[in-house]
Amino acid sequence: MSGLQMNKHMNHMEDRDIQPPGSYPLSPGWDPWDPIRSLEKHGKHVLTSVEMTVSNLCNMRCEHCAVGDTLTFREPDKIPLSLMLSRLDEVEHLETISITGGEPSFTERTVDDYIIPLLRYAKERGVRSQINSNLTLDYGRYERLAPYLDVMHISYNYLSADDFHRIGFGKSPHPVPKETAYKLYERMIDNARRLSAGGMLVSAESMINYRTHLDIVEIHRQIIEMGCRRHEVHPMYPSSFAVDLPMLSRDEMAAAVERLLDARDPSIWMLFGTLPFFRCSVDERERGLVKRLSEEHGVTVRNDPDGRNRLNVNLFTGDVFVTDFADVPSFGSVKSDKLDDLFSRWLQGPLAASVNCHCPAAGCCGPNLLVKDMYYQEENFLLRSAVLE
Ligand code: SF4
Repeated sequence: MSGLQMNKHMNHMEDRDIQPPGSYPLSPGWDPWDPIRSLEKHGKHVLTSVEMTVSNLCNMRCEHCAVGDTLTFREPDKIPLSLMLSRLDEVEHLETISITGGEPSFTERTVDDYIIPLLRYAKERGVRSQINSNLTLDYGRYERLAPYLDVMHISYNYLSADDFHRIGFGKSPHPVPKETAYKLYERMIDNARRLSAGGMLVSAESMINYRTHLDIVEIHRQIIEMGCRRHEVHPMYPSSFAVDLPMLSRDEMAAAVERLLDARDPSIWMLFGTLPFFRCSVDERERGLVKRLSEEHGVTVRNDPDGRNRLNVNLFTGDVFVTDFADVPSFGSVKSDKLDDLFSRWLQGPLAASVNCHCPAAGCCGPNLLVKDMYYQEENFLLRSAVLE
């Protein structure tokens, strides 16, 4: 662990020791979604995070949507809220929940009957919460979440309203007029500004892909203008709608990350995730980049939560997945099983084992499944170890 990483680590340990759960602010030194924390604390991966898919409806059809194939125009009834709450109650080490879709807030009914009760439950238990939204609906719908919500997570991959139209409706089955897209674009920006001004942590995620990699610094600047307090950056991986989009090489991705680090505004938190770079790389540039990321003030690289400290529950079927977007089939249901038991079952399977490496000195617990599949199919990470210079 680098000196700075060690400092960050010790700072959050101190925070954790002196304050009750749920009361300390989310910060680069305290990210409860990162599975390295629970791994260090318990000596093994434990379930601390539950993501719930509450909607398959969305007013957009982004060309890169990782769950695009599941989007519908009508959706069935959901499992009873009481069942989901009782399953959450059984999760011994629960620290975070995430609510995702579709656009989770697409119907007021889902907001009233599921989202607010789930967020209220989290708040009362001292559990941190995130909702993944496109933020294009009326402000009042999001304002209602503010008393309970910790992170409003949005996507932002645009330089202009025309980009938003092109990208945000790239997979729409019918043509969407530019003027309609422009209105939603303006509303998203206005919502982000107003929610941020009111104190909400709005975290904007950009993906590094064939469209954004050369413009990522300008995208970063616009995110800051919107008032967002965190910029989250992930490479795009070929899942669902994104499967046919051109992919970048690791060199192009590394260059985009370096460009961003050189030009970023250090006043906001930059959170990178699902990067294909590790301290065990044979490539000196990639090892150097990971080292630089660990040393930059206000920058974190989150280890991948999927299957490490988190499971996804589909609230229409009760089925449980390792993540909402991979092709890995469900391995159980909240209708019949406890989430902690399903998590143990997942960990015992060969897929989890294939990426279950851990280099404590590097603060790393292995690659995301899609990252391994795309860049490291032949690699056995269990035989690798971090090279610390
Ligand atoms: S934990 Fe795995 S991916 Fe990370 S540095 Fe070690 S061997 Fe590489």
